[in-house]
Order: sequence, then C-alpha cells, then structure tokens
Amino acid sequence: MKKPLIPITKPTLNNQEIIEIEKVLKSGWITQGPKVRFFEDAFAKFTGAKFAVAVSNCTTGLHLALKALGVQEGDEVITVSHSYIATANSIRYCGAIPVFVDIDINTYNIDHKYIEDSISKRTKVIMCVHQMGMPCNISSILQIANKYNIPVLEDAACAIGSELLYKDKWEKIGKPHSDISCFSFHPRKVLTTGEGGMLTTNSAQVAKKLRLLRHHGMSISDLDRHNTKELVFEDHILLGFNYRLTDIQAAMGIAQLKKIEKIVKQRRIIAKKYFEILKNIDELILPTEPSWAKSNWQSFCVKLVDNIDRDSVMQYLKRENISTKRGIMCAHLETVYKTEPWKARQALSKSKIARDNSLILPLFNDLKYESQKYIGEKLKLAINTLK
Ligand SMILES: *Cc1c(COP(=O)(O)O)cnc(C)c1O
Repeated sequence: MKKPLIPITKPTLNNQEIIEIEKVLKSGWITQGPKVRFFEDAFAKFTGAKFAVAVSNCTTGLHLALKALGVQEGDEVITVSHSYIATANSIRYCGAIPVFVDIDINTYNIDHKYIEDSISKRTKVIMCVHQMGMPCNISSILQIANKYNIPVLEDAACAIGSELLYKDKWEKIGKPHSDISCFSFHPRKVLTTGEGGMLTTNSAQVAKKLRLLRHHGMSISDLDRHNTKELVFEDHILLGFNYRLTDIQAAMGIAQLKKIEKIVKQRRIIAKKYFEILKNIDELILPTEPSWAKSNWQSFCVKLVDNIDRDSVMQYLKRENISTKRGIMCAHLETVYKTEPWKARQALSKSKIARDNSLILPLFNDLKYESQKYIGEKLKLAINTLK
C-alpha cells in the first residue's frame, strides 16, 4: 500500500498561538501596537541585537534596510543570484543594480573569495544570504567590507535560531554581526506569523530610520501617541511606506518565539538522522555544515552527481508520495531578469549547477524517523533505476 503524502514542510503550531491571538482580538488593538513592540523586544533579546524592528515580510524588510543604508538609483549592491528572487528584487526596488557573485557549491552560500573582484566605485552595500538557514562566512565577508568601508546587510530570511562561531563565541544569526539582519516569518521558514519579517541592528540611528520608513515616515507612532497625556500631532518627515506587521501576527510570533529553541533543536536532530540514513548513497552529495556554523536546517538540500537527472528523481519520489522541491533558484536565469539590468563580473557556474542538480527533502518538526528511512529507501531506488 502506498504511504500517505509526506509534505516538504509544516508549521509547528498548537494552542499557544490561538490563545495569544485571541487575547489580541479581544483587546481592541489589532494592528501595529503593544504586541508588535513586545515581539520586537523579545526578538532582540533572543538574537542578542540592541534593536529589532518588525515589518510586513522579509522582502519589504530588505527594501527598507537598503534604503536605511542609503542605496539609491544607479548604485550597485553585491549579492548572490542563487537565492530566492526577493533578495535581488529588493535591490531593484531601490533602482539599484544587483551585482551577482558565485557561491561555494558545498554550502550554497556566497563565496567570499569572489567579492573583492566585484567591488566598484558604485558599490553601496554587500548583501549576503544565510541560505536555507546555513550561516554564511560573515567573518570573511566583514573583513573585505571593512577594508573598503562598505556596509553589509544579512538576508537572514531562513536563519532564525542558526548560530555561528564569532570571535570564539557561539552567537545567534541576527545579533547582528553586520549593519542589519533581516528575517522572514513566511510559513516556509522556521518561525512563522503567516506573513511577517524582522530587522535587527545595533545602531539606534538605523533602527530609528527603519521605524520611520515602515510607517509612512510618521514622526510619532500610534502607540506613542496613544500613551502621551499631552495632545501631539504627527508629521510625515520623509517618504515612507506601509510595511507594518499587525498585533495579530505579532501575537503569533510571541508564541512561536517561546518555543524556537526547541524547534531548532528538533530540526537539528532530524537533519543528523538524514546524514546517517543517506551517507551510503554514492550519487548523493550531502550538505556541508562548516565547523563554525550551526544551521537551523530550514531546508535539507542534497545534490546529485552529474549523470543523474534531478527532475526524474523528483518525479519518482512524487509518485511515491514524497514531496520535494528543486534547489534554490538563480535570479539571473528567471524571465523577469532577462531584460533587467544586473551585472556579474564573473561566471555564475556553481550557482547554476546548484540550481539544476539539487533537491530539498521534507523536514518538519514531527517528521518521523520511519518516514525519513522511507524517503532514504525511495531515493536510493530512484537513483538506481536512473543510473
Ligand atoms: C523567503 C525568503 C525571502 C522573502 O521572505 P518573505 O518574508 O516571503 O518576503 C527573502 N530572502 C530569502 C533568502 C528567502 O528565503
């Protein structure tokens, strides 16, 4: 008999989210207010950042971060093509030009060795990505950035709870190690509020700018206005956006954040089991976790050797009721980027290989060991029929 469908992912939700959301609904304050502020404070504490600023999603967060770092029309931002398209799009929203560098094929992360060649007089920001939750080599990236005095923005969309060894101490992604880090709370990520995002920074000035920009450039927030005894009127002091998170979403985030350590711990256990189950399949290249990194395993991505057709493997698994996803896309190969201005001062060959030869296996918190073994068996069978 065929097994029931194994999904690629599933959010880790229970009654706690419902209780927190119910409180908000009954409070009469629905949009950005006291819960958003509470969530921001809890998030800052969790990551070790001085400030956290909630936004409507990670894409809007990246847009604001680039704005706050002064990116303007015609500027260049160094990043990877091998990422979800939002990374590059946020640069385009500023009228700036993404300059793509290639990845390290083992970690799927930006290869810092390629960055220096891509720096020009117009480089305004380096935007690195902690792809699929795996920390990128931020120490090496910062060394280059500091040499040229270029700010760094971390696209940490997938990386809540991931850690890296930084100056001999294990620290959370988002501390932040660079100027700003940006997280996503989409259900495909490890902590979810349906849609949502969070920026972290250690700069009071940047945090202030981000708060202004997400709320129409309004000089005083609704919550602060509500809390004053004196009558105050708002002024709009710069061209801002409506990129707010709601208190309903924040309530969900607060409930999720309380269990994030447990969620990440469980994901690391599941990933470890995958390593054991899959280690003997010669045609499979398992992901690499550098000694200085601890991934939250937002995605468990495996690569096939050249002569095995990835799409056929995925089709085989689909027939066995196992959901998989293609590896990470490359923005420069998407239709919308064919006529858009982007640059690469080098070949992006590893990015393309990663895109074409890799697939993502199911990983969610109540994935059973039996299911993992079943996935391993079927994966091996798929490869054997295709060799
Ligand atoms: C998911 C993701 C985004 C976009 O996040 P949203 O919250 O959906 O806007 C950006 N960058 C990366 C690397 C992502 O994985």
